Amino acid sequence: MMRKGACLYCGQIRMIEEDDMLRAVMEGVEAGKEADILATRQCDCEDAARERERKERREAAGEWARSTFSEQDGSLQMIQSAIQTTFEGAIDSVTVKINKYTHKIDTDSDGMIRIKTTYKESKTETF
Ligand SMILES: [Zn+2]
Repeated sequence: MMRKGACLYCGQIRMIEEDDMLRAVMEGVEAGKEADILATRQCDCEDAARERERKERREAAGEWARSTFSEQDGSLQMIQSAIQTTFEGAIDSVTVKINKYTHKIDTDSDGMIRIKTTYKESKTETF
């Protein structure tokens, strides 16, 4: 069975396989909107392409966070939510300090997620 889905940006209609819709819902796509969301994913209009690119960037940043931070001490969750809120534009930048590392998360003028990590070695002698 095929269903019609309309791109969320340009409204272009695409035929979507019902099996693909079911799979999308299982993967967490909002039920009831799955046909349109799949049509958007397949659409080649400018806005749909930009949205796909944004999603890829966010996923790449998430990958980096998972390989850099630990879930055990909660730092991963902290960084992930910082990336998310910065990316969505709700906040301009977040600075997280963990041990001797300072991570500043913001977006550059092209909307790319930028994470600047600085390492500070300081030594204090107390007598
Ligand atoms: Zn489109």
